[in-house]
Amino acid sequence: MPNPLYDALFAPLTARDDALLRLADGGTISGKAFLDMVHRAANALASAGVGVGDRVAVQIEKSPMALAVYGAAVARGAVFLPLNTAYTAAEVDYFVGNATPKLVLADPANAQAVGQVAKAHGARLETLGADGAGSFADLCADQPDACTIADRSGGDLAAFLYTSGTTGRSKGAMLTQDNLLSNAEVLAKEWRFGAGDVLLHALPIFHTHGLFVATNIALLTGGSMVFLSGFKLDDVIAALPQATAMMGVPTFYTRLLGDPRFTRDLTAHMRLFVSGSAPLLAETHVQFEDRTGHRILERYGMTETNMNTSNPYDGERRAGTVGFALPGVELKVTDPASGNAVPQGEIGVIEVRGPNVFKGYWQMPEKTREELRDDGFFITGDLGVVDADGYVTIVGRQKDLIISGGFNVYPKEIELVLDEQSGVLESAVIGVPHPDFGEAVVAVLVPAKEGGPDIAAIEAEIGRSLARYKQPKSYFILPELPRNTMGKVQKAALRATFAKTFDHSVR
Ligand code: AMP
Repeated sequence: MPNPLYDALFAPLTARDDALLRLADGGTISGKAFLDMVHRAANALASAGVGVGDRVAVQIEKSPMALAVYGAAVARGAVFLPLNTAYTAAEVDYFVGNATPKLVLADPANAQAVGQVAKAHGARLETLGADGAGSFADLCADQPDACTIADRSGGDLAAFLYTSGTTGRSKGAMLTQDNLLSNAEVLAKEWRFGAGDVLLHALPIFHTHGLFVATNIALLTGGSMVFLSGFKLDDVIAALPQATAMMGVPTFYTRLLGDPRFTRDLTAHMRLFVSGSAPLLAETHVQFEDRTGHRILERYGMTETNMNTSNPYDGERRAGTVGFALPGVELKVTDPASGNAVPQGEIGVIEVRGPNVFKGYWQMPEKTREELRDDGFFITGDLGVVDADGYVTIVGRQKDLIISGGFNVYPKEIELVLDEQSGVLESAVIGVPHPDFGEAVVAVLVPAKEGGPDIAAIEAEIGRSLARYKQPKSYFILPELPRNTMGKVQKAALRATFAKTFDHSVR
């Protein structure tokens, strides 16, 4: 029975006795062995009551088995819903309540807290740890290596990815098989991936970048991956000699540049370094070339659209830009007020249309209508400009989104928590440049009339209620927030005031 995504990514693994996954401990997993894991997991999903079209929410550490669960969901025809492992149980509660998955897969360490969440929303809980142990692993152990592949078409949903962790505002982007497959095909071709490639994979697999861009390309092209549990400098440096290509967020590259072991020799055999998910400083691009002789290839995309633009493989990779619209992707820059295209060279909102663009937000028809036009153009919310040669540059984000270490942080969510704290009259949360994280979260507090805030107590509360990457790295106190005549807080002014907070060269 047809299942285009399974047929393209997973079915070919049956013929692969060579290593598909190379692990940090030197072990390998062949394509065929991985496919067996996928099939057993698909059978385990079925035995757990997961049917075609059901959501499977997973909040588990990166591991080969965790990746196999993605394949299993595709084989079973379920909708894969990966969640950031940093989310607290309170945050997971929102996603599970919103998506109503049949099954929630959690780390054994979180079994109790996430188990309560699952129970509250009528979902079944199973566990899976980074070491491959857990109740779901037990369920898989008894399953046969072969499974029935669900009949699916390209227009059927393959995944839900939530756009942020903001309670009440987070949106589940519905991605079809065609969305994922078309993008993987285009990128594989543009970036010249083939069976001989070994992709160094240190990205998380709960996000578009690591899950779809990296994994789908490697699977589609018959390549292999050095599959690391995360970005640990020593492991990445040790793995580089095996790899031909690497994909990363800018933080990966600044960290590598900070290590003297990262040399021209170490990277001489590499074919490609790709960067995305957050702006790569032009300065990093230049430093990288000086050190290694490689020009990082920067691309731009988002949860709702997969990848939209890329610098060219063969042509000039222009620092500070995200290159050209990918083949099949239409891109225009529009005036946010009128929706009309602005003249070339002027800044506006980036809109994209193509087979990569998602089907809308899960159960949010109004939000979908606001951002996805009738003619198929998606209003990305990113501000950008196209130069005379067609290179796109992202100049900012319309909605003050902060991207810290590659993760999206919505200021509003943190402000809501801060405003609740005693001694706080009001707050504003901004992102400021940070040498390691790209941007760091900074909180600006206005003291209550009756007495100012206790920062240590606030930090402790924030530590309990928000994922670490959302927690402010610095707090400032101002007598009042700068506002425009309409009463809006002027975040640009705040960003300018605190821009040098983490610039140690000026301290
Ligand atoms: P996400 O949905 O988590 O993938 O985040 C998508 C957002 O990340 C985009 O809307 C952009 O604002 C930002 N982004 C992704 N790639 C780049 C890039 N190369 N340069 C600047 N911003 C980027």
